[in-house]
Amino acid sequence: MIKENISEVNSKIKDACKRAGRNDKDVTLIAVSKTKPVSDIEEAYQTGTIDYGENKVQELTVKYPVLPKDINWHLIGHLQTNKVKYIIDKVALIHSVDSFKLASQIEKEAVKHGIDVNILIQVNVADEDTKFGLGYDETIDTVKEISTLKNVHIKGLMTIAPFTDNPEDNRIYFKKLKELSDKIASLNIPNVEMQELSMGMTGDYEVAIEEGATLVRVGTGIFGNRCYQ
Ligand SMILES: *Cc1c(COP(=O)(O)O)cnc(C)c1O
Repeated sequence: MIKENISEVNSKIKDACKRAGRNDKDVTLIAVSKTKPVSDIEEAYQTGTIDYGENKVQELTVKYPVLPKDINWHLIGHLQTNKVKYIIDKVALIHSVDSFKLASQIEKEAVKHGIDVNILIQVNVADEDTKFGLGYDETIDTVKEISTLKNVHIKGLMTIAPFTDNPEDNRIYFKKLKELSDKIASLNIPNVEMQELSMGMTGDYEVAIEEGATLVRVGTGIFGNRCYQ
């Protein structure tokens, strides 16, 4: 099932790109494997999918050593400063940076390891109380502050849109994130690139692509429903 699901998602990504006049090479599918066993990832990996998203540090550190080394791991969930040290040398991209304090901790660990770390800034565009992320209006100041860190590099923005049955409801939030990204890009802040927009999940990734997503995070649509203990 997983292989079929991936090929279906990939073909929907292609179609959405076509509708939006975009090149499908500019959109990367991140298979969100949280709560799913290693065997599921191994099956997905056989399709050539090498980008995986996890939202918990603990889970990522368990899966990491037993899976192929060319996998790009994406940390997409809330990250506590005291856990940065466990994933710093394992992740390709941290999507969920929402404070200077967290970015500073990433910097500290990056310097310790002598590595550069790419991050996205999480923005709570819909201003939901239940979500992490910076408010729209505080994002630019925080981006400027984080840009002064030497080993941490901002590559773009990320958002988690509200849960809804109608993906069209979220178009406005995707548009807003893209707008903010363009605005930040126009400021030409040193050490800040706005090449990535991480937005869109199983329910709304096609709309997100139409609005400019470069990274879509699809879990249920690939691995099926999740069971939480
Ligand atoms: C779980 C999760 C996803 C995937 O959600 P689905 O609806 O299963 O596709 C995407 N992004 C984040 C941040 C998540 O935590």
